[in-house]
Amino acid sequence: MNIDSKNKVKKLKKIIKNINQYKKSIENLSNNELAQKTARLKEIVNHKEEKLDEVLPEAFSVVYEACKRVLNIEAFDTQLMCGMVMHEGNIAEMKTGEGKTLSAVFPAYLNSLSGKCVHIITTNDYLAQRDKEQTEKIFNLLGLSVGVITDKSTVEERKKAYKCDIVYGSNKEFGFDYLRDSLSKTKEGIVQNKLDFAIIDEADSILIDEALLPLIISNSKTKVNPDCYIKANDFVNTLNGIAINKHKVKWKKYQKQLEIYDYVFEQDTYSVYLTENGAKKAEECYKIKNFYDINNLKIIHYVYEALVAHNLMKKDVDYIVQDGKVLVVDQNIGRVSKGKHFNNGLQQAIEAKEYVENTNEGQILATITFQNYFKMYKKISGMTGTIMSAKREIENVYHLQCYEIPTNKPIKRIDKKMKVYSCNEARDKAILSEVKEAYSKGQPVLIGTSTIRTSENLSEMLKEEKIPHELLNAKNPKEEASIISKAGEEGKVTIATNMAGRGTDIKLGSNKVKQLGGLKVIGVELNDSQRIDNQLRGRSGRQGDVGESKFLISVEQDMIKPLVRKNKFDNERSLVKKCQNAQREIENRNYTARKAEIKFDDIVNLHRSIIYEQRRKILQTNKIEGISKTIIEKLIEIYSTRDKLVITKIEEGFGKENTLEEALKKYNLNKKIFGNEFNLVQVEIMINAIDLNWKEHLNTMESLKEATRLKVYGRKNSMFEHQIESYKLFEKLQNQIIEDIGMNILFARKLEQND
Ligand code: ADP
Repeated sequence: MNIDSKNKVKKLKKIIKNINQYKKSIENLSNNELAQKTARLKEIVNHKEEKLDEVLPEAFSVVYEACKRVLNIEAFDTQLMCGMVMHEGNIAEMKTGEGKTLSAVFPAYLNSLSGKCVHIITTNDYLAQRDKEQTEKIFNLLGLSVGVITDKSTVEERKKAYKCDIVYGSNKEFGFDYLRDSLSKTKEGIVQNKLDFAIIDEADSILIDEALLPLIISNSKTKVNPDCYIKANDFVNTLNGIAINKHKVKWKKYQKQLEIYDYVFEQDTYSVYLTENGAKKAEECYKIKNFYDINNLKIIHYVYEALVAHNLMKKDVDYIVQDGKVLVVDQNIGRVSKGKHFNNGLQQAIEAKEYVENTNEGQILATITFQNYFKMYKKISGMTGTIMSAKREIENVYHLQCYEIPTNKPIKRIDKKMKVYSCNEARDKAILSEVKEAYSKGQPVLIGTSTIRTSENLSEMLKEEKIPHELLNAKNPKEEASIISKAGEEGKVTIATNMAGRGTDIKLGSNKVKQLGGLKVIGVELNDSQRIDNQLRGRSGRQGDVGESKFLISVEQDMIKPLVRKNKFDNERSLVKKCQNAQREIENRNYTARKAEIKFDDIVNLHRSIIYEQRRKILQTNKIEGISKTIIEKLIEIYSTRDKLVITKIEEGFGKENTLEEALKKYNLNKKIFGNEFNLVQVEIMINAIDLNWKEHLNTMESLKEATRLKVYGRKNSMFEHQIESYKLFEKLQNQIIEDIGMNILFARKLEQND
């Protein structure tokens, strides 16, 4: 345990003493009296958050007692510690099976005392529903209401859920509710209230692995002709590209290659750039003068996505092709994500690459990344089995601290040393002998793979050996939770990709299984972060159970192969080191990529917060006339700086003198004509103008990002240029919105019945 965690635990132990002091008196209360504690504590807190620390010991012991009465469970001290770390707005690392679901109840109860709405966020609907059912009675006994949202919830159900003190739901549902609210044309259509306090389960998965996934709402209108993607695909097929590892080639050689090839796929940063040759060829192919001209953003978009599809996206790893369709494989869970598409044209680019029919590409209406969604909460906290290896990233990005909570009972699992084999075949032989040995005695085995292909190959191998087993992977998304929960029974062999069934813990079937050494976990591929390897190990040895974990890997594993350079002096130890270094390199690369993405995302996020705030004000104001008049003033101001033609246009409408005065006269005239309806008409015009232009802006910003990425190579200041261009585009957006609103209000025409 690191020193910060040790110190933290020491401090928390002192508070636990205070909590214990209340236990005796609370134990004697009737259920009714216990419930009344909530009202009394609320009175003390009196909506002042700073008072929460003061009442923490009493509030926690109230929850402790409620758990005892409802579930017949006495919370461990470690669960109270986890609860306190989360109340402080930090992340607690607590091993699998130590009881995180219950730990969340403590800070949730405490924080709701200040009148805050608490969102408890899980990685999927199933877990949200399950956790709500497990804890609901505790909250209810204490007089708090609990809601849950899933993808099946209706608008009314959502509204009702968000009015509860505690709301359970998946990250996806919370994020999408926010986006849908941002598209609501009326106050009544908004479901989500304030974003006060979020408790995030599986925090590493949500805050790191999925952090930059954009949630997207798009319409079904086709944005472009699919031929554009086919043309770009054909174009990219004519190019000569080269894959290089920038750190491993000499600068001169690198430069030389840039002169020869059309594009570079940089393996160490996992990015693709067009060289000058490539840009020239694009100019010829598309018959344009300057490929990077801002007017060519659309073409850049197609070419960029085609290059990504060809270089960064691998069949059977990132996606599979089934029945003439390209299906996305979610790398984090290693299975096909139902109904999910690659974003922003990548889906269409891959379809072109695989020569399958293009699906419609909708226009983006609203989008946000999980990261930016969660940054909007006043306070966030989290819990997970593995976060310490990503501590630095969490601190830098979210300004949260991570603390390790000790286990309730000592860990008995034995983590064996990693073994590295020089080829897949040798590794598979070793796996088979491990499985056979365990299977013959009845010891359950869980084999964890990072790719679908490996899980299938191993399944074939076990079939040949007539070893019955369960296979959990992308093409076979059966009832994961129930299969995983049985993986600890005698004689079971389970092969699962990465984190299938994460969130469900594996109980050992019987005492015999314990005597046999508990669950044996075998990792057969390194994952792209140590964190996920540790998740896999943590499947075994829950709550002080016996267990065993080992990694048997091969240097031929696709992910590490290009990064491991073998030589004749290699021995077992040096190979292990090389593989671990390769994994570290990949971790760093991903971290760097995320950092770069954050820079892009921050810019759009700033734009979004400004636009959404304006939108919210318009929907909620009762002074729409004031807003309209300000907009009209700005409109006239903008026009006065524009070119002659536009000025003439407006002068024709209002006369040469006192344009503003004339415009306001026109406004008042419309007010008379429309009468009572005028307020509604103005709101509608404003919201429509904002939505329409914002949508355009989002799509343009996406293309601008691609343009910046394509030309990053060799140019130091491309990010700076990107910022300047973004600023200009945003200014243009704001002006366009003013223009559309102003003109539409001034020239609004009342439709008569016979119009
Ligand atoms: P985690 O999310 O940390 O992996 P869970 O919240 O799923 O763990 O809890 C694992 C199991 O431990 C559940 O069956 C739960 O009911 C049980 N459990 C939780 N807290 C306690 C406790 N204090 N005493 C006994 N069992 C507990």
